[in-house]
Amino acid sequence: MSTTIYQQPDAQGYYGQFGGAYIPEMLHRNVEELRNQYRSIITSKDFRDEYQSLLRDYVGRPTPLYPAARLSAQFNTNIYLKREDLCHTGSHKLNNALGQILLAQRLGKKRIIAETGAGQHGVATATVCALKGIECIVYMGEKDIQRQAPNVARMKMLGATVIPATSGSKTLKDATNEAIRDWINNPNDTHYIIGSVVGPHPYPDMVATFQSVISEEIRKQLKEKTGSELPTHVFACVGGGSNAAGAFYHFTEEQTVKLVAVEAAGHGVESGLSAATTRLGKPGVLHGSKSLVMQTEDGQVVEPHSISAGLDYPGIGPMHANLFASGRGTFLSATDEEAVRAAFNLTQLEGIIPALESSHALAGLHQVDFKKDDVVVLCLSGRGDKDMATYMQAMGV
Ligand SMILES: *Cc1c(COP(=O)(O)O)cnc(C)c1O
Repeated sequence: MSTTIYQQPDAQGYYGQFGGAYIPEMLHRNVEELRNQYRSIITSKDFRDEYQSLLRDYVGRPTPLYPAARLSAQFNTNIYLKREDLCHTGSHKLNNALGQILLAQRLGKKRIIAETGAGQHGVATATVCALKGIECIVYMGEKDIQRQAPNVARMKMLGATVIPATSGSKTLKDATNEAIRDWINNPNDTHYIIGSVVGPHPYPDMVATFQSVISEEIRKQLKEKTGSELPTHVFACVGGGSNAAGAFYHFTEEQTVKLVAVEAAGHGVESGLSAATTRLGKPGVLHGSKSLVMQTEDGQVVEPHSISAGLDYPGIGPMHANLFASGRGTFLSATDEEAVRAAFNLTQLEGIIPALESSHALAGLHQVDFKKDDVVVLCLSGRGDKDMATYMQAMGV
């Protein structure tokens, strides 16, 4: 039996029936260059040495695996939080942005482009560009620029140029189109940093590999704490799916470990205001790969909704589409309201204010029956500072 049926795609970038590279002719050269070079670069000693020392000294890894005693007592089981919220810049996103900037340098690129919705990936990208003194251009929907002013300010302070996308709905989808246009026009000197396990092959595999440090650490830390490397459950929220891919990665082939992904149900799965892709999506092509996509009968992508900007995405990475379709992963969903309630619950039990995205994973805990000796690891993907306005509204402040 292959040891990597769920973890890695085939040579064409397929996880089961999902993945691949569906891109305009004019992007072939750029994507081909990446595909031919990324594996040998990221497995080279030179790359690994620099990546590992920056993960340690700059990002702050390993992040703790925290046994959450009061949360565990509430669920009458054993819950460990993987503290990605303690990464520099406040979430797991930096693991990927850092890996990609080191790759870009080795490909001889002098200019970085990215697109961002809520601005979290834009901030992570601007951060690593500042670290390396490389030019950074972030495309962002005009509407998102207005909604996410603090992150726009961060990107600008970090030295990035933020370019508004003014077409269509003026949101993430339009920013993505602008970034792709830029890459087509600048194929030689520019690297495009994608922020989740989405996009054409090799991006999903590349991003999952960079995020896999999360489950690599979990195995080691769990062994120290419990004597076994294997939990019974791993929980993570899923937008595009990068923190979940990282948390699941080294467990996908361990059949005793339940992989639980929690999507955003928004106002409710059937409400028309949701981002629960596996519940509502059909196979389709989005952002350069075949996956599950929320779409109308005639294939128009549906505008998603979630209270958390990071989960407000109408697709899901191809690795997760395959975990879902094969039954290897369990996919749950949590509403806006359930996520906010779970955020207050964690804050008051453990003194940790989680990101709204991570709060969906926490809300998912209520939907599973645990045994007393289960070992549950939950990926706390980010911290809640960026979400204080929403939390204050919920408190009526
Ligand atoms: C962006 C973000 C997410 C969602 O992205 P994934 O690729 O699904 O991980 C989740 N949590 C936080 C804190 C984020 O910033």
